[in-house]
Amino acid sequence: MSQESEYSEGDLRNTGMALKHDREWDYELERIVDAIEERDATKVGLQFPEGLKRRGPSVADDLRELVGDGVTFMLSGQPCYGACDLDTYLMKRTDVFVHFGHSPMKESNKVIYVPLFSNVEVTPIIEEALETLESPDETPEIGLVTTAQHMNRFEEMAAFLEEAGYEVQTRRGDDRLTHEGQVLGCNYASADVPADQVLYVGGGKFHPLGLAMEHPEKHVVIADPVNNVVTVADTEKFMKQRFGAVHRAMDARRWGVIFCTKIGQGRWEIAQDILADNENTYLITMDEVTPDRLRNFDMDAFVNTGCPRITTDDGPRFHKPMLTPGEYEIAVGNEPLENLSFDTFHGTW
Ligand code: SF4
Repeated sequence: MSQESEYSEGDLRNTGMALKHDREWDYELERIVDAIEERDATKVGLQFPEGLKRRGPSVADDLRELVGDGVTFMLSGQPCYGACDLDTYLMKRTDVFVHFGHSPMKESNKVIYVPLFSNVEVTPIIEEALETLESPDETPEIGLVTTAQHMNRFEEMAAFLEEAGYEVQTRRGDDRLTHEGQVLGCNYASADVPADQVLYVGGGKFHPLGLAMEHPEKHVVIADPVNNVVTVADTEKFMKQRFGAVHRAMDARRWGVIFCTKIGQGRWEIAQDILADNENTYLITMDEVTPDRLRNFDMDAFVNTGCPRITTDDGPRFHKPMLTPGEYEIAVGNEPLENLSFDTFHGTW
């Protein structure tokens, strides 16, 4: 895809302006204070995802002011990238535990989820996307998906498309997802609708790539309201990267099989199946899967049963090939190359 076609007029990517749309969050302090009072809490844990950690101290300050002395606020310093990734240490040791920035993967009385919806307008970018979508006269059905961040405007998105003449198809994928129409970086089941085209409203490059790979038969259009840009998902470069990793792992003898100990990232059965199938495999347990932590293991390749995005987005940073479980099956010859597909994650814990 050429630079010209990828970057349309008004595209805010790489301009440093994108965040301007997106700066105001509702931390739902009253809901947190109510829970603290109801439970007579003396210890409160606050967990923010990486992009919002810098806001943690001022949220703690605001809460301290509202509840007065006698309550200790603890900020989780553990890395966090999703609702699959609760700080269970802090959760067990606090009376109230608040997880910011994601919608619940699994409801629990113990956790207060504050989703932090984006306040960015979505209809202007959907209007622009109409030029890239097949017209309702040609293809009336359209699937609609978005991320948790924009879920507060999902009905508005659907209404806008219906007004434009489409028949909007939505579903709630599976129990790893909280809302109808929601997708995660590891789960696109909400896009399993009959429509031949799908509109993804949200930011980031990798979500829609996963969506396009999971549904290669569909025309996937991406309307990114934060960066103000419309693109069409193109999986070619991504597929080349994955084929490259599989090829490099084909001669591997010793395999490290990673089992992730984060609460919502464990796929024990998949790890067990690999171990049962190959005597040159070693189970490695860890929470955060990083290149540094794996460097001292003398393996020829790794297969990651945890978060698929670590494998696909960060894969090239590891010193040895890092594959998804499906890619492992291809590399060891159990499956043909054409079965290469996106690694999706279902269920919770
Ligand atoms: S497993 Fe990875 S992609 Fe899935 S929700 Fe967790 S962090 Fe996101």
